[in-house]
Amino acid sequence: MLIELIRSVNKKLKMNDFLETNDIKRFLSLLDKSERIVLTCHVHPDGDAIGSTLGLMHLFRDLGKHATVVVPDTPPRSLRFLPDFNEIAVYTRHDPYCSRLIEESDLIICCDFNTSSRQDHLAPLINSAKSIKILIDHHEEPDMNCELQFSYPEMSSTCELVFRIIAACGFYSDLNHNSATCLLTGLITDTQNFTVNCRNNDIYEILAKLMDKGADKRKIIEECIKACSYWSLKLKSHALSDKLEIFPSHRCGLITINKDELAEYKYEKGDTEGLVNEPLNIRGMVYSVFMREDSDCIKVSCRSKYEFPVSQICKDLFNGGGHRMAAGGEYYGSLEECRNLFINHIKDYDSFIPKKLEKLEIN
Ligand code: 5GP
Ligand code: MN
Repeated sequence: MLIELIRSVNKKLKMNDFLETNDIKRFLSLLDKSERIVLTCHVHPDGDAIGSTLGLMHLFRDLGKHATVVVPDTPPRSLRFLPDFNEIAVYTRHDPYCSRLIEESDLIICCDFNTSSRQDHLAPLINSAKSIKILIDHHEEPDMNCELQFSYPEMSSTCELVFRIIAACGFYSDLNHNSATCLLTGLITDTQNFTVNCRNNDIYEILAKLMDKGADKRKIIEECIKACSYWSLKLKSHALSDKLEIFPSHRCGLITINKDELAEYKYEKGDTEGLVNEPLNIRGMVYSVFMREDSDCIKVSCRSKYEFPVSQICKDLFNGGGHRMAAGGEYYGSLEECRNLFINHIKDYDSFIPKKLEKLEIN
């Protein structure tokens, strides 16, 4: 089988030439030697984390492998439409089952995270597993102990990278519609429906190829970008009408939501998804910060335009990181302290605001 697979490397698509042939050969060789594969991702898994792991699971099963997805905690409801979503093993719910899958695996593929702390309580289990590990990720500065790493921060999403690896391996013809649906989901969620992170036009070719394989773009957008509950819509309306603060000279919008508000609006995980993007729609706004008082910490989420580095703010102030224009972090303390910390440092980042900018329209 190995020789057959390596020969198929030659059938790769030209647009994936940036992948090292040796890495692809090594990937195929590790895959060939493995029977039981675990695919895993970061805590609070999003469309890209679930899309990449579940997308690979569907492909590997078709290739005759025993493949399972093990995630640190519950994925959001908006992803329930994904094929075989119910088969995802959630560590916070089924610890012994997840532990057994990890222990019995011979290969673990880590998707969509760059450091093991992003796996929270699942990290020790993955770290101590004897299995061979492969990283597939698009975050900067990977800090993982893996035998093979595919780390390409210029990719829009881990799903884009997974697609390219699959194509470079010569598996495009093996891609089934379930895989295609999962991969397109990550592409759509991480690019906010092709509005951000689309530096490379190849992604439209990938979109077309995934649609050729049966992925339903309309359904994916409907399910994981648009659909929300009545209470989620009410919470977002409240946040925008009553809780949005604008700092005009810093070109920044800030939304804070405390635990009483979350209770009042019957908050469920995922209900504030996308909210942080809204203030960026105001002409002249450069970045947006959202702080939510969760049960264990203040979850911070940031988005920006014009290459403004919100990842730096998250790194400096909130023990976090992410991408330059989409980042997050956590703060251990009160919501008020978290807000004050940010406001006390807000001027430190003014130098990143582009000099020539359209007027901020807030009147
Ligand atoms: P979100 O705002 O959607 O929660 O996260 C946006 C991006 O920021 C994620 O894709 C991830 O890369 C990064 N991120 C979010 N939360 C954290 C965090 O707590 N720590 C780190 N290092 N990165 C985070
Ligand atoms: Mn991602």
